Formats: sequence, structure tokens, C-alpha cells
Amino acid sequence: KGTLYVVATPIGNLADLSPRARDVLAAVALIAAEDTRHSAHLLRHLGVETPLISLHEHNEAQRIASLTARLEAGEDVALISDAGTPLISDPGFLLVRALRERGLRVVPVPGACALVAALSASGVATDRFLFAGFLPARGGPRRSAIEALAERQETLVFYESPHRIRETLADLGAVLGERHLVLARELTKTFETFLDGTPAELLATLEADPNQARGEFVLVVEGAPAVDRDPERERGRELLGAMLAEG
Ligand code: SAM
Repeated sequence: KGTLYVVATPIGNLADLSPRARDVLAAVALIAAEDTRHSAHLLRHLGVETPLISLHEHNEAQRIASLTARLEAGEDVALISDAGTPLISDPGFLLVRALRERGLRVVPVPGACALVAALSASGVATDRFLFAGFLPARGGPRRSAIEALAERQETLVFYESPHRIRETLADLGAVLGERHLVLARELTKTFETFLDGTPAELLATLEADPNQARGEFVLVVEGAPAVDRDPERERGRELLGAMLAEG
């Protein structure tokens, strides 16, 4: 039986594709890609001539049967997305789950991933983090989503597009206040930039220099401060509260 290779591709700098990734893309019978035109460009650059088929959010469910049949017949297949690691805010989850349920082999070929790249160079705590992908596009649901995360003490990581970066910073400010965050822009590309500050400060920077609002973004937000769990102090607060209530 064949193997599905989940292959990471670059998030900007083409030199980030590993030699192993290139070998796998050249050796498989077929590459399933989010956007075949976009990936044809990468494959040309790599000198790889493997045939491509599309696998995107609108046809993923339909593709599962034909890809399963080819893997069952012994062919190896690679899955790639437009940038970075497939399945990370990208298609592929339905396929990988279906193949694992059938006992077929799925092998990762790791490489670039914007969230890990941003986090690793952000200077924000990395021991525990919560990746929340893209926030909802509409204002109400977006603010509710931020509110639901406001008390989390682990670092929060979001993806954002240039269309909504200002609104998202404004909503982060409205809900989280003066929370420190890092805006990682255009990672591995010519205009890679890390900006840090409060949401209001970053918003002001983007307003002052619209070039800073262009490109692709990862937002790395410091977690909520730890709640004071010292029992002595907590009891002190309770006593004070009771005295004030009686007051
Ligand atoms: N699968 C990809 C990965 O492994 O990171 C993410 C795909 S998701 C559809 C695209 C989002 O990832 C962008 O909107 C942006 O938030 C983030 N992203 C991708 N490339 C980036 C880069 N070079 N710099 C900053 N953010 C990037």
C-alpha cells in the first residue's frame, strides 16, 4: 500500500524547502495541492515534474475516495498547501483522518510553519501556547472569540490577513487592554518585521506607516497574568471583602 506524505513548503523564502521534501515531491506518483497553479510554480523552481491535482476546502471531501483508491493500489501521494505546513489553517485534515481510519500510512515531512517561526523569534513565552488560527471575520463574533480567550494564561497565537489586521488590533485592544503583543510580518521574506507593543501602540504604528499593514501576519499575544493563588493572601482578601461589606 502507498503512503501519504504531508509535506511542508516554504512560507516565503524558497530555500526553506528541505532536501527531503524535494526528494519526496519528485518520487511520489501524485501531488495533491491546494492551488495547482501556485504549486506548479514551486515545482518548476525545484525541477520536479510530478503531476498535480487540486485539493482545497471545496473538494476535499470528494477527493478522499479517489486518493484512498490510489494509495490502496500502492501509489505514494504527497499533500502540500500554498505555504507552510498543510492542515495548519489549511486543507488536509479530512483526508488525513480518513486515511488513518483505514489504517493507511501518513508520514510528515516537516518544515516551515508561520506560527512556529513567529513564536520562536517573538520573545513571548513559548512553554505553553494556544494557537487560535484566524479570528472570525465579522466584528461581533471576533470580539466574542477574543473574550473567550482573555483569561487564558498561555501565549495566544493568531493568523491574520492584511484586510483585517487593523480591526483585529482594535478589538484586541478593546477586550485585552494594555496586553503586550508581537506582530510578526512577512516572515522569511524581504520585508520581514517584528513590531511589539500594546494593541493601541501597534495600531498607531500601522496608521503612521501603511506599509507596515501590508503582507501576512502572525500575532503573538502574551497570556493573561497569573491569578494570585496564595491561600494566605486570598483569605486576607476575603476578610477584607467581608469587613467592607459589613462596613
Ligand atoms: N499552513 C500555513 C503555515 O504552516 O503557517 C498557514 C496557512 S494560512 C492559510 C495563511 C496565514 O498564515 C496568513 O494569513 C498569515 O497569517 C500566516 N502566514 C503565512 N505565511 C506567513 C509569513 N511569511 N509571514 C507571516 N505570516 C504568514
